[in-house]
Amino acid sequence: MAINSACNEIGQTWMESGVSENAVSGHIQLMVPGKLACFSCAPPLVVASEIDERTLKREGVCAASLPTTMGIVAGLLVQNALKHLLNFGQVSACLGYNAMKDFFSLMVLQPNPSCSDSWCLKQQEQYLQKAKAEEKNRAAVGGGEPEEDVPLHAENEWNIVVEDDPVESVPEESELHEAKNKPAEGLKFEFEQAKSSVNDDELVADSEQDIGELMSQLNNLK
Ligand SMILES: [Zn+2]
Repeated sequence: MAINSACNEIGQTWMESGVSENAVSGHIQLMVPGKLACFSCAPPLVVASEIDERTLKREGVCAASLPTTMGIVAGLLVQNALKHLLNFGQVSACLGYNAMKDFFSLMVLQPNPSCSDSWCLKQQEQYLQKAKAEEKNRAAVGGGEPEEDVPLHAENEWNIVVEDDPVESVPEESELHEAKNKPAEGLKFEFEQAKSSVNDDELVADSEQDIGELMSQLNNLK
């Protein structure tokens, strides 16, 4: 919270990350004061409700994957920081990771107009004024032509974010069978899988000898 306040005060962009207590999910978040939600705008449940973290412990959750999850989330955080600093790719505003289903969520958290951090509110005001001034400038230069990327609703009092539903197409049964044996895109098998059916001429004729005789023959060879 102290880092958050300090960054809001000087308008410093920063990133934070966290791993849930059950050790199987985490997130990284980019914070641009005034433009995106700050740490106080949308704090995690434990901080928001001031519940003792110990009371949130769940029975039957193994913390063995905690270092793994932390490593993954830390890697995502560093990757995002590099993208921001070296100006490549798309910097994620808020990326969630669920280890149980290998599910990633991506969203943009708008700043909260009733954030408890006073510097956040000042930054929000400044950002809005700057955005308005830029819009005026654009209108003056472009002869008032509407911009293509203007959001549908300028105000979003309740911070509603619309996300696309994941498209799930049901594959045919034959496709499913093929898919089972096919590696994911970009991957290939190092060697061919063994054939499950054998040609007749490849079969060795079954001799009438029993296993004991074969074993004694084998021992004699040594
Ligand atoms: Zn805030």
